[in-house]
Amino acid sequence: MRTLDDLLDVGVAGRRILVRSDLNVPLGTGEHGARAVADDGRIRASLPVLEKLLDHGARVLVTAHLGRPKGAPDPQYSLAPVADRLAQLLGRPVEFALDTVGESARLLADGLEDGQLLLLENVRFNAGETAKDDAQRFDFARQLAALTGGEDGGGAFVEDAFGAVHRKHASVFDVATLLPHYCGDLVRDELQVLSTLTGHPARPYVVVLGGSKVSDKLAVIESLLPKVDRLLVGGGMCFTFLAAQGHGVGDSLLERDQVDTCRTLLESAGEKIVLPTDIVVSDDIANDAVTEVVAADAIPAGRKGLDIGPQSVAEFGAALDGAQTVFWNGPMGVFEVAPFAAGTKGVAEAVAATPGLSVVGGGDSAAAVRALGLDETGFGHISTGGGASLEFLEGKELPGVTVLEAH
Ligand code: ADP
Ligand code: MG
Repeated sequence: MRTLDDLLDVGVAGRRILVRSDLNVPLGTGEHGARAVADDGRIRASLPVLEKLLDHGARVLVTAHLGRPKGAPDPQYSLAPVADRLAQLLGRPVEFALDTVGESARLLADGLEDGQLLLLENVRFNAGETAKDDAQRFDFARQLAALTGGEDGGGAFVEDAFGAVHRKHASVFDVATLLPHYCGDLVRDELQVLSTLTGHPARPYVVVLGGSKVSDKLAVIESLLPKVDRLLVGGGMCFTFLAAQGHGVGDSLLERDQVDTCRTLLESAGEKIVLPTDIVVSDDIANDAVTEVVAADAIPAGRKGLDIGPQSVAEFGAALDGAQTVFWNGPMGVFEVAPFAAGTKGVAEAVAATPGLSVVGGGDSAAAVRALGLDETGFGHISTGGGASLEFLEGKELPGVTVLEAH
């Protein structure tokens, strides 16, 4: 794979370079009720590549998506708040196009000067971005590539959106087939760290999984189980495992169609799997919710398990103690709501305290680290890619990476 540094060696001054970044951040309400970036982790992670290109005199065009608009413009998914935050963090002006490949984008792209940056509106406002039909996707990619002047006009493409490389989308995959293409530093670093987890991780190797859906994570459990020493399961997904052990789980999250698979996993690798022994239950998910800690095998009917209990936090901490490699994906409870945040916080602190490499994967887990005020430096690596990091660990091909390997 050619890297960004290879591109800089050739020289980028005066050239229009298209960068696919991952700027898919959660939005909230900012000053004066306007939409604003709630967690800027992914924007920060995208800065190094953009700064390098700008410092070398490139004319930078950035593409990105936000949320899941339905292939047409939708103001709630506009990248405008992201453009503001990006400008603040870069400490330079950011031009913002009101469309992706329309008149606004073309005018601003043509007007770019050396060392200037243009962010295009959400690529998913165009049906071509995610189209299953190859020709439709390719057609949209051609319009994106044309904004750079094309290969003959000095255009090139840098793939830096690690969080999107598992998608065969126009701005991630097809555009790389149309322009000289290079791997950005973020994608390079993510792949390097994640390869450690699938290659020869230092032992003990402990994986902590949580989050809401078992079905999202079964494939990664199956591929990691043979490699790990311990798999700790918390979050909403632990209830399907508890049900597989024959326990009632009240009104907690439960995926009935996954109970058999969980039972098989417990039978084949039960000695490696650590489940919570106590659970924080409540009737509702609210800041003033009345909570109670119950044994994991005695969740009362009608109540919801919303976090792992203090005893489980201690047991997970003991299992993590001395681990040389840790991968953590998925919060231990509904950490967004204060009464259910302690499990995630406690386990995150235990992960950060381990002496070896600790990797956090998953958008919500990374957001939890920042929202709970944890020290980010305790973690070896906080991945920007949720789905992408899981698919990599499952051993799946990542189209946005494979396309970079072809010349
Ligand atoms: P990530 O983005 O880190 O991969 P997921 O998307 O899988 O994580 O899951 C995150 C979500 O899981 C959070 O919004 C959290 O509120 C939810 N969650 C965690 N534990 C529970 C639970 N016991 N019941 C319901 N939801 C839960
Ligand atoms: Mg998530």
